Amino acid sequence: MDYLLARRSLVQSSLSSLAATVAAAPVPATAANAENPPAPVARPRMRKVALEEHFIFPEFITYLAETKQNIRTDFYDRAVPNLSDFGEGRLSVMDQNGVDLVVLSLAGPGVQIEPDANKATRLAHQCNDMLAKEVQKQPAHYAGFAHLALQNPKGAADELERCMHDLGFKGALINGETNGIYLDDRRYDVFWERVQALQAPIYLHPGNPPDHSHMYSGHPEMWGPVWSWAVETCSHAMRLMFSGTFDRYPNVHVILGHMGETLPIQLWRLDSRMPTSHQTYTLKKQPSEYVRDNIRITTSGVCSDAALRCALDALGTHSVMFSIDYPMEDTKSAANWIENAKITEEERALVCYQNATALLRL
Ligand code: ZN
Repeated sequence: MDYLLARRSLVQSSLSSLAATVAAAPVPATAANAENPPAPVARPRMRKVALEEHFIFPEFITYLAETKQNIRTDFYDRAVPNLSDFGEGRLSVMDQNGVDLVVLSLAGPGVQIEPDANKATRLAHQCNDMLAKEVQKQPAHYAGFAHLALQNPKGAADELERCMHDLGFKGALINGETNGIYLDDRRYDVFWERVQALQAPIYLHPGNPPDHSHMYSGHPEMWGPVWSWAVETCSHAMRLMFSGTFDRYPNVHVILGHMGETLPIQLWRLDSRMPTSHQTYTLKKQPSEYVRDNIRITTSGVCSDAALRCALDALGTHSVMFSIDYPMEDTKSAANWIENAKITEEERALVCYQNATALLRL
């Protein structure tokens, strides 16, 4: 493994000098056109940081098993060994595909579905300590997101602070609602206040809603990653905005995965229809402004040039960050796609690592 990593950095540094040479070369006189396509750009593989990369510890398997209602059992069974591995398996997949750094998070829903709040708090603390030990073994390749027992808002704020100050974590990943309570509930003011003070990005990851809506009845394929998780997670983000959470805590950053859970395409309509709606709270800005100011997104599980272009144009080039959703998604597909996606090299660098490095202060 060390050999592989060393070899890659050697190859990258020689390619860097090659790229510098290519950049300095004169532009050829023949213009590129359909019959004369431009030659592939000789450049080193882009540095890649990924933010929605999951793991599991044995103590949390019973919670993970909740997702069997959302995904096939054979898929679930194949994922567990990969989720459990912090060593050669995970590192070699990263190395082979040019993924340099992953911010690890417990695969959901974790203790957020634990009915005993004290047990949830104790287990979340234990999870974070165990993750910190794994991160310490591979500090160049691993970083951590805190797992939080949101049953206790003040306790979750305290644990987030401990994780960031004592364990060096980069924020937290939250798997949707907790016991039917969404994060716009005013009981979470104490949490958001701390999030803002710590400048902790909060990754709002899918989870199941507290009820099973009739609109999914008879269609189990819609219940989970195919559809309902996007509806649930985007709606959770909308609750934060329409409740004034971003007005009370204007410097908070919430990260949505899966190319923004359909949000980028909706901005114009949100702005246009908001004045016609029954409002619970009068927003200080247009909905699209909150999305651009307070929401960041990752490309996890969406390898589509069209969706990426839409996201970059709608939210801004500073808002989109590469991710994979390992091991639920294929690292090779995600890495090959972002290396070749039809965006500018400046945009590719922002998406692949620069935006994440700035937001998470890596
Ligand atoms: Zn995920």
